[in-house]
Amino acid sequence: MLLSLEQQLADAKRKIEILMDNIPGGFFTYDAKTGKLLELSNGLLSMFGCDEESFRDTFYNSFDMMVYKEDRSQTKELIEYQAGTGGNIQVSFRIKSMLNDVMYVEYRGKRVTESNGEEKYYVVLTDVTEQILAQQEMTRVNTALYERNVMNMAMQEEMQNRIRIDDMTGILNKAAMQKSVRDFLETSSTDELHAMMMIDTDNFKAVNDNLGHVFGDEVIKFVARAIKNTFRHSDFVGRIGGDEFMVFMKHTTKEVTEQRARELNKSLCRKFEKDGKAISISCSIGIAYYPKDGMDYDALVSNADDALYQAKERGKNRYVIC
Ligand code: GH3
Ligand code: MG
Repeated sequence: MLLSLEQQLADAKRKIEILMDNIPGGFFTYDAKTGKLLELSNGLLSMFGCDEESFRDTFYNSFDMMVYKEDRSQTKELIEYQAGTGGNIQVSFRIKSMLNDVMYVEYRGKRVTESNGEEKYYVVLTDVTEQILAQQEMTRVNTALYERNVMNMAMQEEMQNRIRIDDMTGILNKAAMQKSVRDFLETSSTDELHAMMMIDTDNFKAVNDNLGHVFGDEVIKFVARAIKNTFRHSDFVGRIGGDEFMVFMKHTTKEVTEQRARELNKSLCRKFEKDGKAISISCSIGIAYYPKDGMDYDALVSNADDALYQAKERGKNRYVIC
């Protein structure tokens, strides 16, 4: 049976409508100049859960008004720019849905010039709200995880520092000195010169006995500060226990080492007064050199300790070299 041209046209139109209504998402066209909404598919209406009349009412029958206010000018610019290149248009933006919540949509379209000269946009709109919200949630969780990791790392560093540091004086403790020197010596070669110094405060018991333990603590802090200030930042300075300290001078010379020992003897030769009572302290120092007096931590400490003992024996307030 032959169909008339009119019948063929109506048939084709109906087929296109069926096709459009079955696209996942919504199909619509609008006037390129005015933005006026033209055809709307049933898929589009069901995306928004409303009938054609209220859809057109809500958006003032204008594509521009469909786009969320804050996204409007950028979306328009993007569409016009892509249309200008003659290719397919793809943009994402937000739409305020009928229930006033925000819907994220993806717009795929093309600007078409009809045979009568009118320019129209043909658009397929997909609701991508679920994907976007899932992405946002993932970003939020990732950021939270990242922040928690950074915090954990900071806490770990803080805890490690606490383990390494002598509470009272803020310089390294015995275990940290031991580890630092051992690690350092592992990569040292025998053509380098380093110095191990053991320093003990002279007559410290008299401070405690006469000026009190609390005052004694302050004197220990003073001694620690004076020692720290005498050496380079890169040298290891620690409190070994009680009134005893250790310094490991890296890449030094014998002249510089002795110069530092003299400076220390001078700055720690101090009189402290409290309630009319005066007590004088000073310090004794024993020095051992790497590699001559020892190749490892234990040998260096042992020889520096012997030299310190000699300094005490010879009347304190002096340094003795192993
Ligand atoms: P010498 O001149 O031979 O070094 O004797 P000294 O009086 O300095 O006494 P010694 O080095 O043998 O002992 C140090 C004393 O320091 C022993 C202890 O009572 C005291 N001491 C140890 N730790 C602390 C502390 O944290 N605070 C205070 N106030 N005193 C401490
Ligand atoms: Mg002492």
